[in-house]
Amino acid sequence: MAEVVEKVYEQVVARNRGETEFHQAVREVLDSLAPVIAKHPHYADDALLERIVEPERQVIFRVPWVDDAGNVQVNRGFRIEFNSALGPYKGGLRFHPSVNAGIIKFLGFEQIFKNALTNQAIGGGKGGSDFDPHGRSDAEVMRFCQSFMTELSRHIGPSTDVPAGDIGVGGREIGFLFGQYKRLRNSYDAGVLTGKGLGWGGSLVRTEATGYGTVLFAQSMLATKGQSLEGKRVAVSGSGNVAIYAIEKAQQLGATPITFSDSSGYVVDEAGVDLDLLKQVKEVERGRVADYVSRRPGARLVTEGRVWDVPAEVALPCATQNELGGAGAATLLRNGCAVVAEGANMPSTPEAIEAFQAAGILYAPGKAANAGGVATSALEMEQNAGRTRWSFETAEAKLTGIMADIHDSCVAAAEEYGRPGDYVLGANAAGFTRVADVMIAHGIV
Ligand code: NDP
Repeated sequence: MAEVVEKVYEQVVARNRGETEFHQAVREVLDSLAPVIAKHPHYADDALLERIVEPERQVIFRVPWVDDAGNVQVNRGFRIEFNSALGPYKGGLRFHPSVNAGIIKFLGFEQIFKNALTNQAIGGGKGGSDFDPHGRSDAEVMRFCQSFMTELSRHIGPSTDVPAGDIGVGGREIGFLFGQYKRLRNSYDAGVLTGKGLGWGGSLVRTEATGYGTVLFAQSMLATKGQSLEGKRVAVSGSGNVAIYAIEKAQQLGATPITFSDSSGYVVDEAGVDLDLLKQVKEVERGRVADYVSRRPGARLVTEGRVWDVPAEVALPCATQNELGGAGAATLLRNGCAVVAEGANMPSTPEAIEAFQAAGILYAPGKAANAGGVATSALEMEQNAGRTRWSFETAEAKLTGIMADIHDSCVAAAEEYGRPGDYVLGANAAGFTRVADVMIAHGIV
């Protein structure tokens, strides 16, 4: 790494002790920026790099709530407003027991560049809580969401900060959060949250957008080699929002997804995933992957090892950060995997990324491949502001166009900085330069 970016990285580590996921995300971006700074040294002026790695604002708050047994529970809430150069802070809320400041900071940092890649007017932010919705009743989830929003409402707004869903936060949680916001503000600010229900300001295609976009990105990468997804075996991890709609789009494009997973294990279904059954188990019943296997002859549940042990030509990690390590990457490559597109945020470890790049396969980082979700959130904001509603076809056509543009921006930036086909460099360089140019225009703020 060039000296200037090395210094910034050292400061980040010293200032954000123990926040290893944040260090990892910053390191990856700064590594990519070395050739950008070498060609355009002004991007290192006026402490621009030091400013971009420091959140504009971080809020950490107590979330007290009462469970069904009458016990008081206390969780911790976070909202990290990272960068507002391009527009209101935008990024999801994650409810998962692993959530801490470092996780939210890494997600918020990634979000800056992802949102810039979409070419829409959205800044970067992220939030969440160490609350675990698994096994909680609807009433408990509602009381938690109401308490969480009671504090969060002070910090967000349609022109300030617009949260959405992420792990553990789907339509149910967004509904409870919006209801409390509306009550506190006495104002129907539909644009304050995205991922809303279709009957109250949500956008068609938002539910599908992240998974669909990830697969569209994989298809664009394959097209550069004159290939397509048609007939390819696809390994998918996760079984939540992103995984389900990645499977759906892959099937629509003629591929055969054969796996999915949750924290209890992974499922192999050689005949191809039965999507209706998967949706029933996960979206309707909020069940575990074993509930799919018990109703699907031929499918098997594996509780040892990783989904990456299953031979596939395409891998779509759609669960969580650092779920695909060096060993998983080596197995995928040995079994002939030629395409990896990240539906999750930072699912591949640095060792895995190095292996994919050394092997010369098509590898797309999450900030490019999964940007369809936030892009469609911005389309939801646009519809809310215009008090209008687009058809599924209109929204999907816009998503398809945005994903194609992101792909082409990554390809062009990788070529400009001398590493054709390097989507990591391409995504980081294209996203960074868009944000950096605006930060320069806004002065030292
Ligand atoms: P969901 O909560 O809908 O699903 C998450 C899935 O991943 C579940 O199957 C869950 O299993 C599994 N999972 C989560 N954490 C772990 C873990 N520590 N170990 C093993 N499995 C785990 O979340 P999403 O589908 O929305 O999000 C998945 C990923 O995609 C995340 O990285 C998120 O940041 C990213 N993303 C999401 C976007 C969106 O629009 N939703 C947009 C862009 C990125 P279990 O239920 O057992 O925990």
